[in-house]
Amino acid sequence: MPSHIADSTAVHPVPDRHGLSLYDHDAELHTLLALYLPADLLAHMRPHFERLGALAGGKLDELAHIADQNPPTLTLRTRTGIDDPQVHKHPAYVEMERLALSEFGLAAMSHRDETLGWKGRMPPLVKYVLTYLFVQAEFGLCCPVSMTDSLARTLKKFGSPELVERFMPRFQSLDFDTLAQGAMFMTEQAAGSDIAATETRAWQDAHGQWRLGGDKWFCSNPDADFAMVLARVDGGLPGLKGVSLFLLPRRLDDGSANHYRILRLKDKLGTRSMASGEIRLEGALAYLVGEQGRGFVQMADMVNNSRLSNGVRAAGLMRRALAEAEYVARERQAFGKRLEDMPLMQRQLQKLRLPAEQARSMVFQTAQALARSDNGETAAYPLLRILTPLIKFRACRDARKVTGDAMEVRGGCGYIEEWSDPRLLRDAHLGSIWEGTSNIVALDVIRAVKREGSLLVLQAHLEALIEDAAIAPAFAAALRDAMVRAAALALNAANEGGDRLARQAASALYHVASAIAMAWEGARGGSAQRIAWAQLVLLHRVLPRDPLAASEVPHDWTAPASAAVEA
Ligand SMILES: Cc1cc2nc3c(=O)[nH]c(=O)nc-3n(C[C@H](O)[C@H](O)[C@H](O)COP(=O)(O)OP(=O)(O)OC[C@H]3O[C@@H](n4cnc5c(N)ncnc54)[C@H](O)[C@@H]3O)c2cc1C
Repeated sequence: MPSHIADSTAVHPVPDRHGLSLYDHDAELHTLLALYLPADLLAHMRPHFERLGALAGGKLDELAHIADQNPPTLTLRTRTGIDDPQVHKHPAYVEMERLALSEFGLAAMSHRDETLGWKGRMPPLVKYVLTYLFVQAEFGLCCPVSMTDSLARTLKKFGSPELVERFMPRFQSLDFDTLAQGAMFMTEQAAGSDIAATETRAWQDAHGQWRLGGDKWFCSNPDADFAMVLARVDGGLPGLKGVSLFLLPRRLDDGSANHYRILRLKDKLGTRSMASGEIRLEGALAYLVGEQGRGFVQMADMVNNSRLSNGVRAAGLMRRALAEAEYVARERQAFGKRLEDMPLMQRQLQKLRLPAEQARSMVFQTAQALARSDNGETAAYPLLRILTPLIKFRACRDARKVTGDAMEVRGGCGYIEEWSDPRLLRDAHLGSIWEGTSNIVALDVIRAVKREGSLLVLQAHLEALIEDAAIAPAFAAALRDAMVRAAALALNAANEGGDRLARQAASALYHVASAIAMAWEGARGGSAQRIAWAQLVLLHRVLPRDPLAASEVPHDWTAPASAAVEA
């Protein structure tokens, strides 16, 4: 070969992580799984984690890219002129649906035994770890998956025995051709955060069947087999107490379309693989779920479950962004050096790592609280009730920044649509908007403090973690002090009544809770790295710092942070 032509088979200067497992190469995940999952379940699940990790790093990532580039389309009529709105999904998206819903059973596993060959019911943590791996490749589909899972949970919890018996098997099925998908239609043009403004009407026809009429403004997975819908019963109370919950089937018993139309699909910044539409209900048949007038409270249960899933998804997006950035930093060279050997790059990576690891710890903690709450432990519910909005609020916000900053690590390629970075960034921005915007979710943290007694329960839980961790006394004292101060701020926010402190308090509680969880994980799981990260969270997210100081503020914790960074 002439010497002036570059040999493209030599070590390539543009590193590409594609094809590497997102499970095998994630050592910290292995540490956490060994700590949180019983040994027999972990041994059983390991091949499944390996398979999904390999898929997410390879085939699934390809499918996600294709589906992102080929969003669903809507046709309104048949060629003979019959109104029959149909959403056309790209085959790559359908293949991902099959993997998520049928092969891995992500939506059904909490509602049936014997998923993935495990004899009993899968604990929530397994579902969330699988989701965490899946979402690192595909974010859009995780919304329908989570809505299907959450709908089944709400139906089981509040639906009449007849309703549950009739429809639940569709949500327990792993047969791709017969399983049902779920959706939730709440938002209206005037009623987004403010559900009390709901205008969709509900009435009973001459046969006593419920009918719905009105417009729903944001409906993801709009052609789902079933949707939970909020509507106001004619003649009922004004405000939230007049809102009821209904189960809306897409098809009637005779197989014909129910009386509602998908009017158009939204042209979205992210989640482009998945359809979100606008819907007009035109006397659609529906079934009342639970008590009339309790719609908001019952829907809150479904929304909370989705909010937790959103926190998990944000953690997954950050992990993927970080994994890509770390790989690039290791493999790419500039000025004759690896990027990862440069002090400024090390600082940049550490700033991505902290929020990604905080979110990961909060996923594990919240999933455990959900399992305990579902098993009837009374103290676990208030804990779950505050951990859920905490992770939804902070992790979703952090994911926006982490995905953006990780993009920069790849240099110019990070900005090019062939790489995962733009998709991650676009998807990450939605987490802070749907299922409650940041303000609304921060206010929900304060509501949990005011109404559910969640603060004391959270403090007791964190105190138990500190005790169990057996960490250096000075560090334990610093964590305790931060916890007391964050709790005081949250109480202040709750008592003040003006909402002003809600976000500050929610961030403080999140940072303290995640630092304590990481310290515990580090101590119990034998990871000095996690203890170091816990210290950095305390230093950089909680304690006061002098922005003009040239170096790290000295501290006397006996286990010093190994790789301190400046904010
Ligand atoms: C892609 C996408 C898919 C969606 N899918 C669905 C779906 O499947 N089903 C569904 O029901 N909805 C869905 N939504 C709707 C979404 O949940 C709402 O957009 C969201 O809850 C915000 O409501 P809104 O758009 O009416 O904004 P608004 O409620 O009008 O909020 C506007 C701004 O005001 C702020 N705000 C509101 N109240 C307060 C307050 N008390 N204090 C301080 N600030 C406040 C908000 O934080 C926000 O910044 C989807 C949205 C998107 C973008």
